[in-house]
Amino acid sequence: MIVDCHTHVWEYPQHLSDYWLTEFDRIWGKGKGIEVAVDLEDHWRAMEGVSRAIVLAFRSRALGVDVPNTYVAEYVNKHPEKLIGFACVDPNDADAPEELEYCIKELGLKGLKLAPIYQHFDPLDEKFYPLYQKAQDLQIPILWHQGTTFLSNAPLKYASPVLLDEIAQRFPQLKMIIAHLGHPWFNEAVVVIRKHPNLYADISGVANRPWQGYQALVTAVEYGVADKLLFASDYPFSTPRETQEALRRINERVRGTNLPKVPEEVIEGIIHRPSLSLLGIES
Ligand SMILES: [Zn+2]
Repeated sequence: MIVDCHTHVWEYPQHLSDYWLTEFDRIWGKGKGIEVAVDLEDHWRAMEGVSRAIVLAFRSRALGVDVPNTYVAEYVNKHPEKLIGFACVDPNDADAPEELEYCIKELGLKGLKLAPIYQHFDPLDEKFYPLYQKAQDLQIPILWHQGTTFLSNAPLKYASPVLLDEIAQRFPQLKMIIAHLGHPWFNEAVVVIRKHPNLYADISGVANRPWQGYQALVTAVEYGVADKLLFASDYPFSTPRETQEALRRINERVRGTNLPKVPEEVIEGIIHRPSLSLLGIES
């Protein structure tokens, strides 16, 4: 069984601002921007070949992105045998904990996505701790975008995976996932997930940069945390199929050298990770 732990749905112009697409064009090239917008049918087709997929709501006022919780809930509730929805709330909203509870109990969503770099909040500001407490009380995982981005209006000072160390100490029962293995701070992400039993990382985007991704996986193996890496594509930036192929090619750059290889069983272990039971979403 293959579980894709990190996928997006978002339509343009309903959910994505021109700012987002302009920035996407600036970095990835003209004309690519509009392709990043996908509808539900695109998503459904791309998930062929995986058994289960987590679909993320997303709200960033700073970037003008709003993929509503209701939109994600309606989609995943049509395909409960395959799809799992994660809510997104803006921690800057005073009622964020209550909104989260509504999303879980009423909409049937199963986790929370947070992105301090996109949502412009300091994860270590204690005024946000009631939200983490609520997630722990509801026994749902938080998927954190603790890593960089291509967008300008996104403060890197809130993006380090190391910031989660303190939150993990304060909320030891809270399951948390560091998206993209903390890209590009793989070493930091690896040491944080090694410290805390309930911390994991998803590998979306990692293998798309072959040299950096190779080093990230070797580092995870050397620190003994490869079994805490969860398979994920970050669709539409990559599909689950492309992500599997990239993972299986990860040793290509070092073939014929004495550099260490990422063992095949580690790669297959990531692809077939039983992430939903690890995260307490399903037994
Ligand atoms: Zn993502």
